[in-house]
Amino acid sequence: MFGLQTVRSLFAMSLNDSVTALPVEASAAPVLSRQAREIEGIYAAPNLHWVGDGFRVAGYFSVIPDAARKLDPFLLLDYHPEYVYSPTAQRRGVGVHPHRGFETVTLAFQGSVAHHDSAGGGGVIGPGDVQWMTAASGILHKEYHEEKFSRDGGAFQMAQLWVNLPRAHKLSPPRYQPLSAEQMGVAELPNGSGYVRVVAGEYLNARGPARTFSPIGLFDAHVNAGGRAEFSFPERDTAAVLVMQGEVTINASSAKAGDFVLFRRQGELITIEAKSDAQLLVLNGEPINEPIVQYGPFVMNTPAEIRQAMVDFANGKFGHLED
Ligand code: MN
Repeated sequence: MFGLQTVRSLFAMSLNDSVTALPVEASAAPVLSRQAREIEGIYAAPNLHWVGDGFRVAGYFSVIPDAARKLDPFLLLDYHPEYVYSPTAQRRGVGVHPHRGFETVTLAFQGSVAHHDSAGGGGVIGPGDVQWMTAASGILHKEYHEEKFSRDGGAFQMAQLWVNLPRAHKLSPPRYQPLSAEQMGVAELPNGSGYVRVVAGEYLNARGPARTFSPIGLFDAHVNAGGRAEFSFPERDTAAVLVMQGEVTINASSAKAGDFVLFRRQGELITIEAKSDAQLLVLNGEPINEPIVQYGPFVMNTPAEIRQAMVDFANGKFGHLED
C-alpha cells in the first residue's frame, strides 16, 4: 500500500514535524525487562458478518472468553479483511446510529470511508488515514463507503476499534481527531525489516498523532518476509496483535492472516518474525479497571447510566442527523 519512497518521505516528515500529541496521563515508568509476554490465546477469524450493507467484518472479541476484562481498555475490534467490491451507484454502509461513553477508532487501509455526524462534522477516511472519534456524552453518525470509491469499486480493507473511556470522561463533549496518513509517525525497522506506522503511542523514534484519555498504543506494522520486529509494553498493559496479512511467528507461536493473538499481562517483549510479507495491527493499553455496562452502542459504568443514555437518546439529546 505504501511504497518505500512514500515511507521514506513520511519518515522524514515525522522527524521534522513538531509533535502535536498531548501527553497522556502520567504513570509510573515501567521497569523494562526482556522477558517474553505469555500468549493467552490465538483466535482465528470468527465468521464474517455485515454491519449495514457496507462492512463485512470479523468481530474478534465476541469469541474471546472474558474479553471485557482481558482486553480492557478495548471494547471491540471489527476487522474488515481485504474484499473487492463491485462498482455501484448505491450508498453502502450503516445509517444513523448513536454512541455514548467511549471512542470509535476507524482505520482505513484500502478504499475510503465517509462519515457524517449530528454535530455537523463529516469527512473521508482514505487509505492510511485514521479517524479517532470520542463519542463521550453522545453523538449520532452514519458511516459508509465514500461515493467515488463506491462508483469505481475496488479493494477495501479497514478496521474499527472501540476504546473505553475512564468514568471521568464518559460525559465529556464529543471530539474528532481526523488523522491523515501524512501525520502518522513512521519508524523504519532495523536491517531493512520493514516499517511501523504509529497512530498512538511511541515506537523507536516515532510518535503517533492521536491524543488519548488513557495510555494507549496503536501500530500498523509492515514486516518484510524474513524480517523481525520487537515491541515491548509495560507488563500491566493489555497487549494484542491482529495478523492482517502474511504468516508470522510471534513469541515462538505461528500465526497467519486473520489470527488475533492476545497476550497475558505477564512479561513484556513481543517478537514478530515474518515468514512472508506481513501486516499487523499491534495494540497496547493500560486497563481502566472500572465496571463496564454495555447496551449496544452505549458503554457506561452502571445500569442506571445506560437507562439514562436511552432516555437521552429518545429525547433527542444526541442531536439530529438525516439518514
Ligand atoms: Mn458508529
